[in-house]
Amino acid sequence: MAEALVRFEGVRKAYGPAAGGYAVKQLDLEVMRGELLTLLGPSGSGKTTTLMMLAGFEQPSEGKIMLEGRDIARLPPHKRGIGVVFQSYALFPHMSVAENVAFPLEVRGVPKPDRAARVARALAAVRLENFGDRRPAQMSGGQQQRVALARAMVFEPPIVLLDEPLGALDKALREEMQFEIRDIHQRLGVTMMYVTHDQQEALTLSDRIAVFEGGLIRQLAPPRAIYDSPANAFVAGFVGENNRLPGKVLAVEDNEARVALDCGLDVTARAADTLAPGARCLVTIRPERVAVAAVSATELGEGAMPAVLREAIFQGDHVRLKLALGDGGEVVAKRPAGGGALPEPGSVASVAWEAGHALAFAAA
Ligand code: ADP
Ligand code: MG
Repeated sequence: MAEALVRFEGVRKAYGPAAGGYAVKQLDLEVMRGELLTLLGPSGSGKTTTLMMLAGFEQPSEGKIMLEGRDIARLPPHKRGIGVVFQSYALFPHMSVAENVAFPLEVRGVPKPDRAARVARALAAVRLENFGDRRPAQMSGGQQQRVALARAMVFEPPIVLLDEPLGALDKALREEMQFEIRDIHQRLGVTMMYVTHDQQEALTLSDRIAVFEGGLIRQLAPPRAIYDSPANAFVAGFVGENNRLPGKVLAVEDNEARVALDCGLDVTARAADTLAPGARCLVTIRPERVAVAAVSATELGEGAMPAVLREAIFQGDHVRLKLALGDGGEVVAKRPAGGGALPEPGSVASVAWEAGHALAFAAA
């Protein structure tokens, strides 16, 4: 059974008077030993505030934060022994890479002979064993972030916190570094709390994802469950791409909702929320779950819906199809690019999906 390393209990944080609102409204969260937990959410949703409270740079207004069973709320940052990596590299420019990584050991009074061995180990962990003599300015952005990570891990903290550490890198390097961090985490088994607003990054890296919105966790689950079974319309819209079709609930039976879409079509969807007949709702369906056929729906029969192809865009590994659905609806479908001519815009088509892949949420 996994053990909780960190526990937030009833934590709230207001930067000013409580009447001005909470940056973190209510936080009950456990970080398990050895896991990589990502805080994912839009800008301003409270991710950095949460991380800063754990690091000790901000104080909770209410609640407790436990690290290895101890209440750390009143401990200053340097007594918590937590490693932190920020978006800006914050390496000391006048020091060599090895001196940068040695710095936390020096501050902690580790004897000099021990330092060299531990620095070498930390640099090897991020695959920079031959870079100790360089200056930060002589390295790429990705390498500098690996130095920052080595520096955050060198004193073997119980947990390393990373706040948008790849935010300053270009797309290709960012993706490469995601795999690198994932690999470092898996090799060393160090517990990590990772902040990002990038859902792809969160899906790539995480053991579990906490999706933040407005100072609250809206869902906490492994990547696959977040993607396949979003708990609410916010998560369905924020993580991955989704078609969003508004409508009205006709009936609910077991876990299935019958919905009259505003575009005039009736569909069946998995009830992913508490739904009442007559209430407004939102049906979501992933583009890769939408099957498109180049024949009319009447020819295709049962479950097929009439559509007209509006646009087909070649995107390298897949083709993106935009279709007009029913009367005024729109749906996007993705299909693998291989072979075959693209259908002509304006051509009659039909779309279909398995009922279990469509989710119905109460309208916000
Ligand atoms: P995120 O990291 O998810 O973008 P933050 O935790 O930085 O979100 O911010 C959450 C909310 O708290 C935002 O409304 C932000 O404006 C506010 N906030 C963050 N830091 C401060 C601060 N030092 N003083 C006042 N308000 C702050
Ligand atoms: Mg932030």
